[in-house]
Amino acid sequence: MIEKTATELLSLQDSKSIRAVEITEAFLAAIRRREPTLQAFLHVDEAAAIEQAKAVDAKREAGQPLGALAGIPVAVKDVLCVKGVRTTAGSRILENFHPPYHAHAIERLLAADAVLIGKTNMDEFAMGSSTENSAFQKTRNPWNPERIPGGSSGGSAAAVAGGEAPLSLGTDTGGSIRQPAALCGIVGMKPTYGRVSRYGLIAFASSLDQVGPFARTVEDAARLLEAVAGHDPRDSTSVNRPVPAYPQSVNQPVNGLRIGVPQEFFGDGLDGEVNAAVRAALKEYETRGATLVDVSLPHSPYALAAYYIVAPAEASSNLARFDGMHYGHRTKRKADLIGTYSQSRGEGFGPEVKRRIMIGTYVLSSGYKDAYYVKALQVRRLVKQDFDRAFEQCDVIMGPTTPTAAFPLGAKQDDPLAMYLSDVYTVSCNLAGLPGLSVPCGFTSSGLPIGLQLLAAPFEEEKLFRIARMYESVTDWSARRPALP
Ligand code: GLN
Repeated sequence: MIEKTATELLSLQDSKSIRAVEITEAFLAAIRRREPTLQAFLHVDEAAAIEQAKAVDAKREAGQPLGALAGIPVAVKDVLCVKGVRTTAGSRILENFHPPYHAHAIERLLAADAVLIGKTNMDEFAMGSSTENSAFQKTRNPWNPERIPGGSSGGSAAAVAGGEAPLSLGTDTGGSIRQPAALCGIVGMKPTYGRVSRYGLIAFASSLDQVGPFARTVEDAARLLEAVAGHDPRDSTSVNRPVPAYPQSVNQPVNGLRIGVPQEFFGDGLDGEVNAAVRAALKEYETRGATLVDVSLPHSPYALAAYYIVAPAEASSNLARFDGMHYGHRTKRKADLIGTYSQSRGEGFGPEVKRRIMIGTYVLSSGYKDAYYVKALQVRRLVKQDFDRAFEQCDVIMGPTTPTAAFPLGAKQDDPLAMYLSDVYTVSCNLAGLPGLSVPCGFTSSGLPIGLQLLAAPFEEEKLFRIARMYESVTDWSARRPALP
């Protein structure tokens, strides 16, 4: 059961071969066997999941209409609010937070009759690239438990790659869906900014954050995005545009496909095996009639620096609310008002979050704002203009999702700059508000997955899915499974 895709599980239920409750039980059993190794989940409520699955079966038996994800277990990054269920964002400061409402994406999952199977581990407030910044536990890569799963949505990626859930939701501010998808050998998609509502998503950097799907296949990812996308007046940046029927068109190849290949995505620091796998994937597209076009993204060398100013600036502002008075953990130590704020924050936030708050506060401070924050916004605009120009010449831009495969736990934890460099190929997509997708494109000689990144113009998710599927359908990378209990 746990080897099947969501698409297969849906049709097996339609043909009455299996019941939703059997599916949920199978994944819960996998969670019990594999969590000691993977540590992907922060919270699993078996009884509640079984209840939801039973309700789906009852609806089916009564002949009532069913949602598009009926009976499919979905794991959710612990940064999305689920009413009454502890939601921590991976932080001690929210250790006891039980949201009084559902995030929009959660409402949509429930309306689609999906089963919420658990909340997944993440870097604290989604800041990180390895999930090691979680205040609670270290998630392992299903392909090699000595390695990180990527981050910040590492729990969601490991859960799907490790067969603990067929689908999961993550968030991507600078690569946190695409990077762990690449490192865990699955499909991950960051939608266009505004495609999915951020209502009920605990904010990191509000101008960059997007919710998106993880799945083992492109078609499954398309189903999950279709379920959660769409307009929501409670998020003023949510866009009022119809949601295409992504899964219906996913098998239609794109004719006359022009693939932009920016040399800036193949520079220093790119691992040889990753480079070779990505080049081989490009060749595969060529064999199927696509044309490779050299495009230039001349400002991409500055994107990482701009990202690491804009994201911390927004984070320092968003995280100001967690002061032990309005929100979050309150210190037990006796102190005056300011002392209570600083003690509570000092105890509640981990070292990376504190670093971001300090960077963000500095780049916004009077006297430095123009030199840093405003300059970074100007660079952001130039990065966006590079893409606008490139997409006049091509339908999609391709390159590696990450410069290397998954690194060992602990390898970059004392070196923030090395950690930040893991995001060198993913951040420009967020700065420009584009949709981006990572699809498996091979393995290193030591058996670690490699991801191919596809970027498209705003709101071209449908095209991205079709282009990714063209490649997936002629390779068998997504059919491989890690060895797990
Ligand atoms: N790794 C990047 C960071 O630490 C991106 C994180 C994300 O996309 N949430 O900021």
